[in-house]
Amino acid sequence: MGKEEVKGCSFCGRPKEDTLLLISGAHDSFICDKCISQAHDLLQDELYSSNKKESAFPQQVSLSKPKEIKAILDEYIIGQDKAKKVISVAVYNHYKRINKTEQLDDIELEKSNIVMVGPTGTGKTLIARTISKILQVPFTIVDATVFTESGYVGEDVESILSRLLQSCNYDVSLAEKGIVYIDEIDKIARKQDNPSITRDVSGEGVQQAMLKLLEGAEVLVPPEGGRKHPDQKMVKINTQNILFICGGAFSGIESNILRRLNTNSVGFKSKGMQLFDKDSALNYVNSTDLKSFGLIPELIGRLPVVSHLNELDKTALKAILTEPKNALIKQYNKLFELEDIELTFDDEVYDYIVEKAYENKLGARGLRGICEAIMTDAMYELPSEKEIYKLHVDLDYAKKYLDKLDLQHLKVA
Ligand code: ADP
Repeated sequence: MGKEEVKGCSFCGRPKEDTLLLISGAHDSFICDKCISQAHDLLQDELYSSNKKESAFPQQVSLSKPKEIKAILDEYIIGQDKAKKVISVAVYNHYKRINKTEQLDDIELEKSNIVMVGPTGTGKTLIARTISKILQVPFTIVDATVFTESGYVGEDVESILSRLLQSCNYDVSLAEKGIVYIDEIDKIARKQDNPSITRDVSGEGVQQAMLKLLEGAEVLVPPEGGRKHPDQKMVKINTQNILFICGGAFSGIESNILRRLNTNSVGFKSKGMQLFDKDSALNYVNSTDLKSFGLIPELIGRLPVVSHLNELDKTALKAILTEPKNALIKQYNKLFELEDIELTFDDEVYDYIVEKAYENKLGARGLRGICEAIMTDAMYELPSEKEIYKLHVDLDYAKKYLDKLDLQHLKVA
């Protein structure tokens, strides 16, 4: 068959002279630039809507008042009153701002991203996770240390958003209202005395990259995560309404705080006033201290709410063991109840567990390991026993399992 004259697009009928590009196919058919672009969009929709299952999250965030949010936090998190209050207010304002955008045209409400400063294992992640449950919004936890500047080995910061997207079955509009918890933010602080003149791979560059997410921009995200790949289809996510909560131990920040406080209070010092001590220093942490610790001012500017969490003392550890809604002891009770066995503990067993956690510096995270050491044998044996309906754990029983055990292996970094 001879060569046909090119008339136009076989799909939309547009004549050749109205097109930018015509690509020929089999049987003398042609497709124009516009049809290619439309087909591409359709394909994208199809790919990502087929990934989209029914999501567990409601489209509209139902907002409780700060007092109500704090009351629910109280059910799960022991102590840390100030942090819970500050965060309840910040979260309330954030979602209020999202829910009411139309009426607030004249005054721009700033986003209330949060940074929590406090020793490891004091409840930072637990607070962030509980907030996301209260509000029923998508939530993801990432560790700042896995990120590197673009071009270096490691993950690109955009993959934070990939995880958020995955947590809500690729529903972009839900992800755009989610919460991201960035752990170990202190580990990407600029090293003060970095002798290298080359760029600090793990520090400032990552902070710069993170800025883009925190300040509210449209970001192209690889939906499957990982590093950007030229062939990977990207999804556009606007981060303006995503709440970022950052946490870090900021170990040693007390000296930065004290230096600032004591400089400001030289006048008091000369009058013999009590100066601030190291133990209470964290109560006064503010953004100036984060800056002197090594976070860049632009990043700090995007984290307007600074709160702190205190080290947990023995009373708090004991309360954590027994009081929260899903306290460890309540969980063991439930497990045994399911086997029709009534489980009881002497109060001194709790004190003993706490003492062990405290003296081995295991913190709240270590409580579970200690309890497991005491309970594993019973959980192994009793389900096979037909005639046992009660288990009472007294001090001797607990000691039998713990005294011979080296608890250092329960230490969590
Ligand atoms: P981090 O401050 O390092 O983020 P987490 O929130 O992950 O600490 O705490 C680790 C675990 O310890 C939690 O899952 C929880 O079981 C327990 N925990 C820590 N702090 C508290 C607290 N204040 N109240 C109740 N449980 C706590």
